Amino acid sequence: MSNLPILPAIGDELKKNEKEVTRTVLACTKCEEQVTREYKEGDIVFHEPDGEICKSCSSQMIIKQIFVEIVKKK
Ligand SMILES: [Zn+2]
Repeated sequence: MSNLPILPAIGDELKKNEKEVTRTVLACTKCEEQVTREYKEGDIVFHEPDGEICKSCSSQMIIKQIFVEIVKKK
């Protein structure tokens, strides 16, 4: 299993050109496949969302982690 993304330090001030983006990490229930995508309303850790299928083995994905990332605005 690969390393988890690093969480930004809480309390860090956002710079002008930065914004917070909430992301969801999905992990396959059968293999090592892991996908990070943008957070969607209703995402809950350890929930198995309908229609989120592993690209490698077509098994159900489970929400492993939800985290906030600071990204630069375009
Ligand atoms: Zn899989």
